[in-house]
Amino acid sequence: MSDHLRVVCPSCHTVNRVLRERLGPGANCGSCKAQLLSAHPIKLSAANFDRHVESNDLTVVVDFWAPWCGPCRAMAPAYEQAAAELTAQARIAKLDTEAEPAIAARFGIRSIPTLIAFRSGREVARQSGAMDFPGLVRWIRANA
Ligand SMILES: [Zn+2]
Repeated sequence: MSDHLRVVCPSCHTVNRVLRERLGPGANCGSCKAQLLSAHPIKLSAANFDRHVESNDLTVVVDFWAPWCGPCRAMAPAYEQAAAELTAQARIAKLDTEAEPAIAARFGIRSIPTLIAFRSGREVARQSGAMDFPGLVRWIRANA
């Protein structure tokens, strides 16, 4: 296995190659200097979705949600907390299915919230329905 990980910058979406042991709070994007690890869920859109899902060597977990969805809004603080807890273990991201219906359709999202874990661009796990913080951490750890 390579000692380098590809990590997509959460700010400018440049693909960085980082030594595995360097990936921590001090790792910055070579292009825009932003921190490569984010303690907050990254907002994905049609413009950057494929880049993040396919070019990260970290597992990417995407919360498919919508602003009108009560359970999604109820889960948001726990998801935010999970992103802070699992910063170096997985890429935690969100996709607004109302703003990006084509991506939701591509993955056959029928109910929200739905979480999908992607590894090297491939879906490896999917879970529908809101989870609490311990549930989220457990699920993400199990699939990262
Ligand atoms: Zn950057």
